[in-house]
Amino acid sequence: MLTSHTYSKVKQNTFTLVQESKLMFQVATYSTDFIFEKISATRSNKIMLPDGNKFRNSIRIQLFVEKGTECVTCGINGTVFVLETQDLKLPPHLNLYAVDENGEYVLMTKDHIHPKSKGGLDEMENFNPMCRPCNGKKADKV
Ligand SMILES: [Zn+2]
Repeated sequence: MLTSHTYSKVKQNTFTLVQESKLMFQVATYSTDFIFEKISATRSNKIMLPDGNKFRNSIRIQLFVEKGTECVTCGINGTVFVLETQDLKLPPHLNLYAVDENGEYVLMTKDHIHPKSKGGLDEMENFNPMCRPCNGKKADKV
């Protein structure tokens, strides 16, 4: 569900992200090169990192590998992967962020080119990388 809170902010470098009014705890941050290298080195969908953290190689992560990390609409480029969670008791989730001109983090999302609500398929051919603000404006339009 998209809300008016399109931007995520890093607050005073406390490694706390605010996303859609929810606090997200940063477990770790990684460069895109580092994550892509780890993915290419295995066929497993559970990726183990040298620091002991792990993440699931989802189709969303695979989209950024296959189609790049730039928003197809505005061109902002996802440059940092953040392993984060709302609840430290739960396994963290790997999200890709771009950093905008104000230094604010912008979440990169998986856009359905042909919207799911209009019969668009849930497969790679129908996905594009898109930042959350652009995806929010696009909504259900093709
Ligand atoms: Zn965009």
